[in-house]
Amino acid sequence: MIMRANECFTLNKTGTTYQNRAENCISQGALTNSKRPESLVKGIYPTHLKRGKGAYLWDEKGVKYLDYICGLGTALLGHSPEAVIAAILGGMGDGISLSLSSTLEVECAEMVKSFVPFIDKLKFFKNGSDACTAAVRFARAHTGRKYVLSEGYHGSGDGFVSMTKPASGIMDDCYYSDLNKWDQDWGDVACVILEPFNLDIGKDRIQWLMDLREKCTKEGVVLIFDEVITGMRVPGYTVSRYLGIEPDLICLGKAIASGMPLSVLGGPREIMDDPQVFYSQTAQGERLSLLACMATLQEIKKKDVNNLWEQGAYFQERFNAISDIIKLEGYPTRARFAGSDLDKALFFQESVRAGILFGPSFFYGFAQMEFDILTLSTVSDIIRRIEVGSVKLGGELPQSPFSQKVRDK
Ligand code: PMP
Repeated sequence: MIMRANECFTLNKTGTTYQNRAENCISQGALTNSKRPESLVKGIYPTHLKRGKGAYLWDEKGVKYLDYICGLGTALLGHSPEAVIAAILGGMGDGISLSLSSTLEVECAEMVKSFVPFIDKLKFFKNGSDACTAAVRFARAHTGRKYVLSEGYHGSGDGFVSMTKPASGIMDDCYYSDLNKWDQDWGDVACVILEPFNLDIGKDRIQWLMDLREKCTKEGVVLIFDEVITGMRVPGYTVSRYLGIEPDLICLGKAIASGMPLSVLGGPREIMDDPQVFYSQTAQGERLSLLACMATLQEIKKKDVNNLWEQGAYFQERFNAISDIIKLEGYPTRARFAGSDLDKALFFQESVRAGILFGPSFFYGFAQMEFDILTLSTVSDIIRRIEVGSVKLGGELPQSPFSQKVRDK
């Protein structure tokens, strides 16, 4: 039976929630793993959002929230930033995916290179998973070696998923291993892939990264920095530039196109020009994402990431001075909540009831900067109530999203 649009609308008016409907049409009930209701306080949190603007989101019932999940890190400029929307609308009449390479992909690649100067050449992909998977492919081709040493989460490519059981549907040996458990010969290792700042930005981590750079150079191993999250949210735009540690390959995604599907893999000519590596997709040069990327990068340049970094650090300092039961751990523009599972659940529940949307990953972007005082006073009030035991959990304890489990490993 064909259902017309207005019939869909009528169905919604019966009181059926979008989650009820999703259970009947969306595989596994949700698309992105960490957006599953179980990842938040199920029963209390909204499950489906209708729109976002700036630092705000509106759920299916029209309730408004101040957002600190930031589209899982895509909304560095806030939701629907005007300059980005204008760029998309202004250029969409000229085609979406053209029949040959487009002029725009060259212009956009040149602009990305100006933000990440050590890149000779790059390819665009549609998401972080593709950029990371392609990085491994280029590295294996370049070295002729098979092992991949990985730390943290790098998306849904088979090899990466093979590291976290049950990994159903994936062959047993993809030759991926945990970087921190590798005790075999480095002569078989093609590449090391990691997030340079996986929340920890302490001195020891930085020294460890420098040592790792040296080790990879000595052993002929390709070092890949997955900056899908960190890209554009640290001073200098990338951790590589911020610390002055150059990887061989870099992956960018998330914030670079404000949530339009775009990612980047970049590196030196010797690796990126290998004619034997095949990684080709129909929509790699899709124009709307490229337009969004160029407008996003221009806006980021105007807005000053250093300033965001400093204010984010000050926000976390004041947040962490409120109490010992809930802390933010991470770097100024991204963190995770630390505390007992119950305290965190109570905190999330009361925050969302007060109109603030926190999630397992905390992001701090340009749109959040004007809300520090409001957020901190609301948080302070909530934590006091939790401390005196006057808050009861009305929903379910959140379960770590799969990606978080990989990070926690
Ligand atoms: N690398 C990192 C560090 C990520 O955080 C993510 C996504 N959260 C990915 C890669 C995969 O990106 P995507 O979900 O866009 O495929």
